[in-house]
Amino acid sequence: MNFHDVKFVLSVHSERQLPTEELPEIAFAGRSNVGKSSLMNALIGRKSLVKVSGRPGKTQGLNFFLVDDSYHLVDLPGYGFAKVSKDMQNSWQGLITSYLETRQQLKCVVVILDIRHEAKPTDTQLLNWLGQQGIPCVPVYTKVDKLSGNERGKNARLLDAGHGIRQEDRILFSAKTGQGREELIAALTKYL
Ligand code: GDP
Repeated sequence: MNFHDVKFVLSVHSERQLPTEELPEIAFAGRSNVGKSSLMNALIGRKSLVKVSGRPGKTQGLNFFLVDDSYHLVDLPGYGFAKVSKDMQNSWQGLITSYLETRQQLKCVVVILDIRHEAKPTDTQLLNWLGQQGIPCVPVYTKVDKLSGNERGKNARLLDAGHGIRQEDRILFSAKTGQGREELIAALTKYL
């Protein structure tokens, strides 16, 4: 993974708009405001190719980014924002669920969790559901720069226990300091 050339390709709002290319895809999922855009920007080494959201909960599509003409990174809309109506939550589920269930090109999903927060049921549901579908998943605990070393370890263990995640399977990340970037690249490279 070099990220020499990264382009925004398109925003998908219905299944028929999905790209027909057979390139492998890696998707990124997380609650609104978890730091998903910041993580993706830090990963690809661009300041703001992926929009950092000032307006959580707005209607969004699945945003496709083409990397070095060889694979797609797919930014899934954030979920679980309290002020979003039930209808919007359902429409998130409809398109995303069918994308995750049926997309042959999808190689793995990076599930992003805020290291400061306790295990939330919607995150557990997503992680369990991905497991049931047999979709490989890379859990990332982000914003680790916001906690001291002690708290970081303690919170990481709470999230591990809450979600049934093994310590060796998750990555501690900070979009601010770049911690975890190389580890994430190594984990994703295995799926490409
Ligand atoms: P998204 O809605 O999941 O895409 O979240 P954003 O990437 O827009 O981030 C939400 C807020 O958290 C923004 O104010 C970011 O600057 C901040 N943020 C995201 N990641 C980090 C991080 O690793 N460290 C710190 N300190 N702040 C972060």
